Amino acid sequence: MGTGTSQGIPVIACECTVCKSSDPRDKRLRSSVHIQDDGLSLVIDTGPDFRQQVLQANICRLDAVLFTHQHKDHVAGLDDVRSFNFVQSKPMPVYGNQLVLQQLRVEFAYAFAEERYPGVPQIDLIEINGDVIKIGKHEIIPIKVMHHKLPVFGYRLGDFVYITDAKTIPDSEIDKARNAKVLVINALQKENHVSHFTLAEALEMIEELKPEKAYLTHLGHKMGLHHDLEKELPDGVFAGYDFLTLEI
Ligand SMILES: [Zn+2]
Ligand SMILES: [Zn+2]
Repeated sequence: MGTGTSQGIPVIACECTVCKSSDPRDKRLRSSVHIQDDGLSLVIDTGPDFRQQVLQANICRLDAVLFTHQHKDHVAGLDDVRSFNFVQSKPMPVYGNQLVLQQLRVEFAYAFAEERYPGVPQIDLIEINGDVIKIGKHEIIPIKVMHHKLPVFGYRLGDFVYITDAKTIPDSEIDKARNAKVLVINALQKENHVSHFTLAEALEMIEELKPEKAYLTHLGHKMGLHHDLEKELPDGVFAGYDFLTLEI
């Protein structure tokens, strides 16, 4: 650590290689994904960086939000769907399991109050339980994975599978995630972690799920530099990075 001052405010500068890296791929916002498919525009999770991500990715229309689970790093930015409410003149459909919806009602109580302040986000909560989700002509398959003891939904849309914050995938759900063209899967760090796949565990799961290509997400600080990580990965497996765009 080094210290300095900026306009009288003490500044503590981190000296570690990831923080000091000039590679933009080492500047990681929270995990989420935007999917565009034949007229459908949806996001999976709205973490604290949701607004910044939407602005930078030029997302001007949003039809739905799907949540994987209720942890703050995946839900904190939901308030900012209000901008889509203004532009689209309708509430935002928001999908999650019962635990997610319960937590959203607590964390964003003002959006669900009897008397609402003008301009608060308009949110239509839609409870899902693992059955196929239909949005227009699109079908999305939830995949139940476990985040230590917390059930989390991964999602499959056609040949794209997105799984984050998993530590285990029950045998009964594995088939739903197999043989995708693109699998995005979490890998937090190399050291063991109670609720996230390690790099080795993620690679083992990728071998089992046999996607054409796999991208690692929810990469933690301890995973090190993007450039170094990529060199360690087997063929067909890549480290994800912010604003990566894939066509399937
Ligand atoms: Zn989590
Ligand atoms: Zn997370």
